[in-house]
Amino acid sequence: MSVNIGIDDLPIRDELRGKSPYGAPQLDVPVRLNTNENPYPLPEPLVERIAERVREAARTLNRYPDRDAVELRTELAAYLTRTTGHQVGTANVWAANGSNEVIQQLLQTFAGPGRLAIGFEPSYSMHGLIARGTGTGWISGPRNDDFTIDVAAATAAIAAHRPDVVFITSPNNPTGTAVEAETVLALYEAAQAAKPSLVVVDEAYVEFSHRPSLLSLIEGRPHLVVSRTMSKAFGAAGLRLGYLAAHPAVVDAVQLVRLPYHLSAVTQATALAALEHTDTLLGYVEQLKTERDRLVTELRALGYEVTESDANFVQFGRFTGEGAAHAVWRKILDRGVLVRDNGVPGWLRVTAGTPRENDAFLDAVRALKKEQT
Ligand code: PMP
Repeated sequence: MSVNIGIDDLPIRDELRGKSPYGAPQLDVPVRLNTNENPYPLPEPLVERIAERVREAARTLNRYPDRDAVELRTELAAYLTRTTGHQVGTANVWAANGSNEVIQQLLQTFAGPGRLAIGFEPSYSMHGLIARGTGTGWISGPRNDDFTIDVAAATAAIAAHRPDVVFITSPNNPTGTAVEAETVLALYEAAQAAKPSLVVVDEAYVEFSHRPSLLSLIEGRPHLVVSRTMSKAFGAAGLRLGYLAAHPAVVDAVQLVRLPYHLSAVTQATALAALEHTDTLLGYVEQLKTERDRLVTELRALGYEVTESDANFVQFGRFTGEGAAHAVWRKILDRGVLVRDNGVPGWLRVTAGTPRENDAFLDAVRALKKEQT
């Protein structure tokens, strides 16, 4: 017999009561530009290579996978070294199931009950949600009106709250804003003076940036971590592979909390196959950067305010009045295009898709503008 009870009737932790799970709508519409995915399916030769590598891995699935994912970490380190010019080795790199899991492992290791993390909002909401899930207190730090980090206010917040973990997202989601190296250094200094604490630079979208990666800043800064993902630039959101680069001691530390054999042999084989096709995949990134810049230009030409973007998405607005952004979101959806209402008052976010998808989006907003005049 099933009893009619809900989440809040269960003896769950107090801090989870009344909360909603993370989730963008997965609606079945013709053009989906709402979750910052790469619109290009993996190329056929890579699909073949994945099948080959996974077939090989299948032969030993009776055994646990390489617990330390050494081959994969070595290839990720080679990718980082090649694309940033900053030398990192296997010992500097750690991998997990998406950068969300990387972030969770960092919070489990460096934060948790009785400790605090800070982020500068609006930013990636999962930083705060994973903090809560690990029992970590969350401080919402400020930004300037143009969505850059207000260095004076941020360093003051760090000095006042003395957080154990500081999140800096560059390029930032949902605004697209890249962070200057000087800003990271100022916040790092403030965080070391206050505690010292771990500073996590989330570079999920960095391959789309006009600016170089902040990776080289880990040199001589053992409390600085750069987190990355194969979900965006590698077009492999379904793979679930995130990774970090940091001092080897940080890599050793997260192993205190990682579940044994957390990264399946199938995941490791698939990621290794994708890394063999890096050049082709980075070619798609170049096309997406061009399309992102086109969205910025065309939205501005239509009279929208657009935040400077270094990511594979664009924040546009400004829609004034209570619920105005959501009303526009709905109207765009009625025209078969799904964008994202992140709850940033006055703004919406659109992911750069294929040229055809972006045309469909631009046609939809053009039609809206016409309706208004
Ligand atoms: N960081 C940022 C800033 C993101 O926007 C996302 C995904 N939307 C992630 C991390 C997590 O990505 P994944 O777990 O797929 O690696």
